[in-house]
Amino acid sequence: MLQNYFADLHIHIGANQHGSPVKITASRELNFANILHESAFYKGLDLIAVIDAASPLVINDIERLLARGEMTELAEGGIKYRDRLVIILGAEVESREKNGGQVHYLAYFPDLAKIKEFSAIMTEYISNINLSSQATGLTGAELLRIIDSTGGLMVPAHAFTPHKGFYGRAFRVYTEAFSEEEWAMIPAIELGLSADTYLADYIPELSSKTFISNSDAHSLKKIGREYNRLQMKGVNFREFKLALLGRQQRSITANYGLDPRLGKYHRSYCQECDQGFGGDKPVDSCPHCRSKQLVIGVKDRILTISREKESRSPELRPPYIHQVPLVDIPGIGPATLKKLLSNFGTEMDIIHRRGVDELKEIVGEKIAGNIARARSGEAIIKPGGGGIYGKVMG
Ligand SMILES: [Zn+2]
Ligand SMILES: [Zn+2]
Repeated sequence: MLQNYFADLHIHIGANQHGSPVKITASRELNFANILHESAFYKGLDLIAVIDAASPLVINDIERLLARGEMTELAEGGIKYRDRLVIILGAEVESREKNGGQVHYLAYFPDLAKIKEFSAIMTEYISNINLSSQATGLTGAELLRIIDSTGGLMVPAHAFTPHKGFYGRAFRVYTEAFSEEEWAMIPAIELGLSADTYLADYIPELSSKTFISNSDAHSLKKIGREYNRLQMKGVNFREFKLALLGRQQRSITANYGLDPRLGKYHRSYCQECDQGFGGDKPVDSCPHCRSKQLVIGVKDRILTISREKESRSPELRPPYIHQVPLVDIPGIGPATLKKLLSNFGTEMDIIHRRGVDELKEIVGEKIAGNIARARSGEAIIKPGGGGIYGKVMG
């Protein structure tokens, strides 16, 4: 039977079980075991992809948890944790494209054996295989071959950000990087925190690609700040792959994420003048000091590379629902969040399964109203840019 599941497909690892760093910029408490616990019992996710699972430090942690019986590998791929959560093992790697651009790609693998194979191959190209998102010196097309040969799927990460995004920095059209046949092997692109479906559908060549929206979490509390609803027959790697490909009725049926204005690269930002820019037109040089050294905003970049006047979504494109994460809603501090969780279960329960009246009884009218507005995308927002997140004002 087809059912709906919630999935966050880009969660980093800060450190292994013993505190050795994996992703330097991520929180040390973001280790494999803590991610499982947070995702299953607080966020209420059904499926997660743990990026950085190709690090031998993380592989050791995974093997220990499997040996202890805390989790088990599924025959159809993926790892099951306590009957609540399925984990897909993934990696994020950085290319060096022919034009000099550097692009981040996500890779998802069916099982531990396959990601170990991938990890072993990558040791030839990466100077420290223990660390996350390392430069490989390989082009995207070369990475695609390697990932495909080890049974994995490759997806451009945060595709529009000025920081190592496929379109955000390196390319204007896919043909600059891939042949038609290679492009067809890429099932999806990740929108990133500063873009949504509306913006991405300014680019017609993406009409055949699935969009995914993920947290790119660098700390436990950021898990699930963006996520997807997948329609599948059960949760495992095989079903996940079908959903990304949109085959046999499996698909992504909704994206949930930040209003792109909350992302830290939404609009162009001049570092000389310390100022961001709004308006309908893309900004690629500073109107004040004429500097071209801007951090180009995601919206500005998309409007610049698109030859279209408007955004046109293909018929089967699922809705993108703007949400504000619970912890960022005005009035919700740690104590209120704890109260909500102890009454209603998980964040997915609070966001998707509870009525405003029920919430009102526990947190009062004002906060319940804030939650309702944040769920429906009506919150008031101050846009972000130049590496600074936007803010929810009320
Ligand atoms: Zn990245
Ligand atoms: Zn990442």
